[in-house]
Amino acid sequence: MNLRIPGPTPCPPEVLAAVAREMVDHRGPEFAAALRRVSQGLKDAFHTSNDVLIFTASGTGGLEVAIVNTLSPGDPVLAVSIGNFGDRFASIARTYGADVTKLSFAPGQAADPAAIDEALGKNPAIKAVLVTHNETSTGVTNPLREIAEVVRRHDKLLLVDAVSSMSSIPCEVDAWGLDVVVSGSQKGWMVPPGLAFVSFSPRAWQANETAKMPRFYLDARRARESLEKGQTPWTPAVSIVFGLEVALDMLEREGWENVYARHARCGDVARQGVQQLGLKLLADPRYASNTVTAVWAPEGINVSELRKLLREEYGTVLGGGQGELTGKIFRIGHLGLVSEADVQAAVDALAQALARLGYERVPVTR
Ligand code: PLP
Repeated sequence: MNLRIPGPTPCPPEVLAAVAREMVDHRGPEFAAALRRVSQGLKDAFHTSNDVLIFTASGTGGLEVAIVNTLSPGDPVLAVSIGNFGDRFASIARTYGADVTKLSFAPGQAADPAAIDEALGKNPAIKAVLVTHNETSTGVTNPLREIAEVVRRHDKLLLVDAVSSMSSIPCEVDAWGLDVVVSGSQKGWMVPPGLAFVSFSPRAWQANETAKMPRFYLDARRARESLEKGQTPWTPAVSIVFGLEVALDMLEREGWENVYARHARCGDVARQGVQQLGLKLLADPRYASNTVTAVWAPEGINVSELRKLLREEYGTVLGGGQGELTGKIFRIGHLGLVSEADVQAAVDALAQALARLGYERVPVTR
C-alpha cells in the first residue's frame, strides 16, 4: 500500500521490529537509557538546547500541553489561523478560558507577519501568540522565522504547532526564538501515533511559574522532573519510544539537512506532478508545504469516489479535505519515510484513476 496521507505515515521495518519488542520496566534502567537517547535526539532534531518533553498523547494533546502550562484563564491570546489546525489551537485556548483574538487567513494563504505585527500593536495586552508552522489541512507552510521575529519584537510568548513540520522542514527552535513547540510521533518521525514532543524555552518555564490553567496528566513540570530521573510521570507508550530510538538513528544517519532536502524534492515531485495533470494547487505557491500537497478536485470529480478507486484498485491512499474543504480538495502526504519514487507512483496512480473517472486532461496512454 502506498500510504500517502499526512500522517500516520509508513514506518520502516526496523522501526516496526523495535515497536514489537517485549516490555521492560518503565521505571528501570533499560527504559531510562532509551528515554535519554530519544530526548537527546529530539533536542538535535528541534535544533534546541531547551527541554523537549515527551507525552503519551497525540499532537492535539501536545497543543494542550503548550496552552495549559503557560497560560491562565482570562489571558489575552492572539491565535493566528490559516486552517483547521490553527482553528483547533485557538479552540483549546478558548476551552481553558483564554481571551482569544483570532487572526485568520483564507485557505491556501500563509499568515502575513505584517498583519500579526499590526494586531499585536493594536492590542498590547496580548500575552501569547499561537501559530501553526505547517497547516496540514491546506498544505501551507507559514513563514515562521519572520513571524517569530515580529513576536519577539513585541516580547510575547510564541506557542508553535509544528506537528507536521518538525523533522521534515527546517524549524530552528533556538535560532528563531520559539518558546513552546509541539510535534507528534506519527508525522515525519517514521513511528506510529502515540507520542507528543513539546519543547519549552526558559521564557516558557518562566510563564509556567504563574500559569493557572488546570492540568494534571499534561503537567509539563512533572514531566520535566520525571525526565531528569529517566522516567515519565505516568506509564508511557514504551513501544513508541523503542521505535523512535531506531527512527532517530536512521534520520541522524541520513543527516537532518539531507532529510529536509529529500522532503523538498518530494514536495516538488508532488506539485509538478499534479500540475502536469492540469490540476490546481490550493496553496499559494510561495508557501506550498514540503510535507503535504492539497489539490483542488477538478470539476465533475467526486473526491470520495476518487479516493475509493485509488485505495481499492491502485493501492494508493490519499487524504481528503477537512472542514469547509471536505469534498473540494484531496491531499497527498509526503513526509517521513518517503522517496521521490513513492510520490511519483502516487501521481501516476492519480492520473490513471482520474482518467477512469472521466477526467479529460489526463494523458490516457500513461
Ligand atoms: N496540528 C497539525 C498541524 C496536524 O497536522 C495535526 C494532525 O494531523 C494535529 C495538530 C493534531 O494531531 P493529532 O491528530 O495527532 O492529535
